[in-house]
This record gives sequence, structure tokens and C-alpha cells, in this order.
Amino acid sequence: MKLDLLRKYKIHPNKRLGQNFLISKTILREIIKAANLKPSDIILEIGPGLGVLTKELAKKVKKVIAIEKDKKLTDILKKELDNDKIKNIQVINQDILKFESSSFNLKESYKLIANLPYYITGPVIRMFLESTKPPELMVLMVQKEVGKRICAQPPKMSKLAVFSQFYGKPEIVKFVSKKSFRPQPKVDSVILRIEPLALTDKRLIKTNRKLFSKIVRAGFSQPRKQLINNFSKSLELSREKVEKWLKEYKIQPNQRAESLTLEDWIDLTNGYCSLS
Ligand code: SAM
Repeated sequence: MKLDLLRKYKIHPNKRLGQNFLISKTILREIIKAANLKPSDIILEIGPGLGVLTKELAKKVKKVIAIEKDKKLTDILKKELDNDKIKNIQVINQDILKFESSSFNLKESYKLIANLPYYITGPVIRMFLESTKPPELMVLMVQKEVGKRICAQPPKMSKLAVFSQFYGKPEIVKFVSKKSFRPQPKVDSVILRIEPLALTDKRLIKTNRKLFSKIVRAGFSQPRKQLINNFSKSLELSREKVEKWLKEYKIQPNQRAESLTLEDWIDLTNGYCSLS
């Protein structure tokens, strides 16, 4: 698709920034379809790169705010958009991990869409799900294995799966071959769709989220170890207390964090306060 721009501007894709550009029109259409776009939508895109996805999004929505870490790509994209007289795309040169929604006036609801640089998948998902202004929808290209891990069930839960499933409903909508990118990455991808729960959802209101996060982190502090060891060490509780706390919810002290259900984590959070 836009690979001629690589030549025109003599760009050497930066591996460290995960610059694998999308070249498949079919996959582009699949991302758009998964995002269920409306003319009134505001889109936050991470890593627009050469703007392949950005421009398609802009045709269908009110506004696209695109955050790109690479200064050179940002300048090129701005110039191209200027040439094409496209007015509803705002390109900002910034690291998404330092992004603050308040500084971009994101008062309205928005959708987060990205062909993500893989090295920031986990932090980006956590950051937006835990935000005080989460997106109404996330459509993200992620490595296939990471996507599967996020949607996994016990006994294959991971910390990211617990957080993603607590704050939203993740689903894989499409397998994407590594051949869909240039330069070609080593692994295949998937399009992952996460529908975050509204902040008014009963689950989010009833659970102390800070505590939930602390307990999940403690449980997964050493994923191969038994829960009793992880909890007593990370939460600085006696083994007796941890055992009593776990047994209350019919969890065995020798279980591993990966075997707990989402409900187990919520129960443990709610029961933690009466531990002292
Ligand atoms: N959206 C384009 C596409 O689909 O062809 C490019 C996707 S490429 C996989 C990832 C993009 O994210 C690159 O343009 C890269 O420079 C940018 N990027 C990498 N790290 C970033 C970060 N921390 N914040 C914002 N953008 C980042």
C-alpha cells in the first residue's frame, strides 16, 4: 500500500519501535469493521506510522487523534495530510505511554484503535483499561500468542488476562498472517477487540480497584509458585492468615495464580478487608 512512501522519504523501519507497516487491504477492512465506526466517532490511534489506517479511519469518523513517537514519521505524515488536504486528523509526536488524556481535551467518548508496536501491548492495554476515562471500544492488532493469552481461561490465566477480563470483554476477531506486514515480523498477529465495561458497571463499582490490582499483582508475583507463598510474601501476611483467607473461597493454598477464575480474584479482593 503506502510502501512507496518508505522509498520516497528514505525511511528505514525502526525495529526497536515495532515499525511493521500494514500492507494488506483485507486486514485494513477487518480493523475498520471491528471498530463499528460512526460519523460522530472520535478515534485515538496509537502509532499511525505512514497513515495507512489513519486515513481510512478519517474517511468514516469525525476526528482522528494520532499519537506517534517517531518524530520523522510524524513530520512526514503531517506533510502528506497537508498535501492531501485532510483536515480531521491531528497528529501528535508523543510516546503513548506518557499520554495524558486531559491534555488532549478528550472529554467526549472515544475509541482506541491501533496496529500496536508489540513492545508496549501490555502497558497500553492496562493503561487504557485502568484509566479514569477508558475508551468505549479498543481494536488492537497484537501478537497472536498475546491475544490468545488475554482471552484465556483458567488454568491458563495471566495477569494481563485477569485485568483485561475484569475491566472489559476481550475477543479475537481475526487471525492475521505475518505476511500482512512489511517488514515482515517473526510471528503472526490477531485483531483483538476489547469492549471495556462502563465505569458505572456494578462489578467496577462494587470492587475496590486499587486493592484488586494489588492482590492480582501479588498472586502473580512469581507465577510458577503456589499462591500461599506469593501472597504471604508480597502482602506480608502470615501463612495461617493467607490459608484461612483462601479456604474461605474454596481455593487451595497450593494452587497457582493461573488457575483462579475472575470471580476468585473478585472474592479475594472483597474478603481481604476482613482479614486483620
Ligand atoms: N499504523 C501503521 C500501520 O498500520 O502500518 C504503523 C504500525 S507500526 C506496527 C507501530 C507504530 O507505532 C510505528 O509507527 C511506531 O513508530 C509507533 N510507535 C512505537 N512506539 C510508540 C509509542 N511508545 N508511542 C506512540 N507510537 C509508537
